[in-house]
Amino acid sequence: MASLNELVHQLARPHKTMIERDGGRKELVDVLPLLQQLRYACKQDQRGGASGHSTGPSAPLALQATMDYRAIQSVVQEWHVHITGQNYGSIEQQLLTWAAWAQSPSIATHEPTHADDCMVWCQGWVEKIKNTLHPIRKGEIPGACPECHATEAWDNVDGERTRIGHAIAALGGVAKCLNCGTQWQGKDLHALAAKLRQAEVDAAAKAAAMENERQLQLLPA
Ligand SMILES: [Zn+2]
Repeated sequence: MASLNELVHQLARPHKTMIERDGGRKELVDVLPLLQQLRYACKQDQRGGASGHSTGPSAPLALQATMDYRAIQSVVQEWHVHITGQNYGSIEQQLLTWAAWAQSPSIATHEPTHADDCMVWCQGWVEKIKNTLHPIRKGEIPGACPECHATEAWDNVDGERTRIGHAIAALGGVAKCLNCGTQWQGKDLHALAAKLRQAEVDAAAKAAAMENERQLQLLPA
């Protein structure tokens, strides 16, 4: 499980994340803070509207993103005012202030639940934002296809390569990879579930190992 600092880092700072390219090649890429990604998503329908193009599927995304953002902002602001008596700075700065305060020695000693509370909020937000930006729709199964290793399905929409969702979709009693067409049913579904779980465990172990290595490099020799 990610620590509070790791969660705050994902929310408020540029960070690296592992993505899977076509053909299963894994790559570590730099991504913007999740809160900043959410702000961009809030503006998606305005950009579309201003240029005269159809807002298409981005309008509901912008709406969801705006609702998420306001909900997060109100909690973070409330804590910032509670701690500092004032409301200033970006939402990222306010979150960093809150997390630092909750983990400061005096608070950690006398009111240790503050760090836990902050962590629960942040964990929920990381999940919520990722879910809003890459929604898991009904019938979709997150994870990489064991056959073609794709995690996402793409299609041509108006001549643009568009992400249509997770690669594996559940259709009735059958799971199907929309990328390579492999189907699973009956007891194969159990085998698929086991492979997806194992892949998740492997990815978590790899991420932990990388973080460990990064911290070792940061330590003074
Ligand atoms: Zn596949």
